[in-house]
Amino acid sequence: MTPEGENDHGRLFVISGPSGSGKTTIVRRLICLPGIFYSVSLTSRAPRPGEVEGHDYRFVCREELEKMAAGEELVEQAEVAGNLYGTPRRPLEQALSEGKTVLVDIDVQGAMQIKRAFPRACLVFIKPPDLDTLEKRLRARGTDSAEAIQRRLRLAESEMEYMTDYDVVVENDDLDGAVAQVEALLKGM
Ligand code: ADP
Ligand code: 5GP
Repeated sequence: MTPEGENDHGRLFVISGPSGSGKTTIVRRLICLPGIFYSVSLTSRAPRPGEVEGHDYRFVCREELEKMAAGEELVEQAEVAGNLYGTPRRPLEQALSEGKTVLVDIDVQGAMQIKRAFPRACLVFIKPPDLDTLEKRLRARGTDSAEAIQRRLRLAESEMEYMTDYDVVVENDDLDGAVAQVEALLKGM
């Protein structure tokens, strides 16, 4: 059986790593580049202040997300910190067939699923400098309760173990430097 994506022309980049490592910040700086398609995920979590439906996420109920997963409408899905997330199949496949460079910002479980389904995808791990810095950034982001932050930090420790399964590791210490490294990958430099 031909793995999914083998006949596509575009390239698929999975931007992944622990929550708070800077994935969203980095991706938002790159989606304005020509030929880039950003895959908007589905989530069962509630929108944060300022998040826009269809731009940051498509906010759906848990049941709808589960139904789409069962109907194979998602290329991957995972439960992260008590919420469901998934990548819709149709827009991603459409963008690849149009030759676009596709960016998905997902957790490590989803990244491993993408690697199986799209063996030619490039998996990029965004690594925080250390766990103390990660905690400070999660606190400064101001979007999670103290309890949720501790939950995300515990999760981050286990997520770091997946780093060796990735094609590239980018340390997000200096933001401009991390953005430049990912941009160079997208441009095939
Ligand atoms: P993720 O999408 O991986 O959960 P975010 O992009 O939301 O992470 O980043 C978490 C927080 O850290 C945000 O408040 C962001 O502004 C901040 N941040 C990201 N990268 C850096 C960096 N290199 N230096 C300092 N703060 C950063
Ligand atoms: P947040 O709730 O902070 O936006 O995201 C929590 C985690 O879920 C982050 O690591 C983020 O990358 C991940 N995530 C976002 N969308 C998806 C998705 O479609 N699939 C998977 N597997 N993870 C996702």
